[in-house]
Amino acid sequence: MIVVMKSGATEEEIEVVRKLLENKGLGVHVSAGVEKTIIGVIGSKDRVRELAVESMPSVEKVVTVSNPFKLASRDFHPLDTVVRVGDLEIGTDNPVIMAGPCSVESKEGIIDIARRVKKAGGQVLRGGAFKPRSSPYSFQGLGEEGLKYMAMAREETGLPIVSEVMEPDTVNLMVSYVDILQIGARNMQNYPLLRAVGKTETPVLLKRGFSNTMEEWLMSAEYILAEGNRNVILCERGIRTFETYTRNTLDLNAVPVIRHLSHLPIIVDPSHGVGKWRYVTAMSRAAIAAGAHGVIVEVHPKPEEALSDGAQSLTLEKFESMVKEVELLADAMRSIHPEVIASR
Ligand code: PEP
Ligand code: MN
Repeated sequence: MIVVMKSGATEEEIEVVRKLLENKGLGVHVSAGVEKTIIGVIGSKDRVRELAVESMPSVEKVVTVSNPFKLASRDFHPLDTVVRVGDLEIGTDNPVIMAGPCSVESKEGIIDIARRVKKAGGQVLRGGAFKPRSSPYSFQGLGEEGLKYMAMAREETGLPIVSEVMEPDTVNLMVSYVDILQIGARNMQNYPLLRAVGKTETPVLLKRGFSNTMEEWLMSAEYILAEGNRNVILCERGIRTFETYTRNTLDLNAVPVIRHLSHLPIIVDPSHGVGKWRYVTAMSRAAIAAGAHGVIVEVHPKPEEALSDGAQSLTLEKFESMVKEVELLADAMRSIHPEVIASR
């Protein structure tokens, strides 16, 4: 449920309502807007009714949220959430570009890629150390060694790093290295893992499972938020359809739908979405035009020699052109009135 305070309600009045709800054991989330403050309440509707909150003079109305996701819902938190990673803001109209290899392959390799990603205008370095491969015989990643190389690349370039966490037991280890924890598509509904990253304060990049609905995805975000970590970034990475020319079908519908339903930032991974480098730049542009808060793409200096996902990796030269095109699109988007970008 949501308690909408009257515009002009004082901090003291808001505090009275908050305490009243909390003392009844209800979960409370206060969101101060420009005009009005709304208080998201998690718990039984009957308890809220018993408290007769609606009849308090500072309260405008009490609304029931019909979505199963609460903390992730825009009803609870009308303004866009901006996730901060150092100086970087994710969730504004300055789209963030994340790039790097699918897997970290060597120390020299990742440092070289990081320098070139930075030079081209990338703002976050990606690189898998623990890889969720479809085959147990495929390269599984360098593990902690890979994380050490990622940290060295950050040291060299100042780029924050994002890498995938696969198991609850490795969350603490990952947190000691990375700036953003990635939850991969295959783990989107790994609830113990979601709870474990929810207990940290490290931003989480939550990829959509390739057979999951947007509602299931938002419910997974809810698991993380409910544990107290409010730094969730959603990532659309393509879903399974009957199409075979592309690896997945990049569901860009998700961008306006998620921006309508949720306050969380949403970025797009066109690399896994299409599976072929040739289509990556076009879909990066499309992601920004749809209103995404950024893109994450795979790059490799020699894609044909990559240990994973070479077919969808851009060379660094192509990545440089992609960044320029994305920036042009971002300029165009900023020139459009915000209401046109997404229904908010
Ligand atoms: C990846 O980012 O390399 C990856 C494995 O992505 P996904 O979980 O979307 O398949
Ligand atoms: Mn990959």
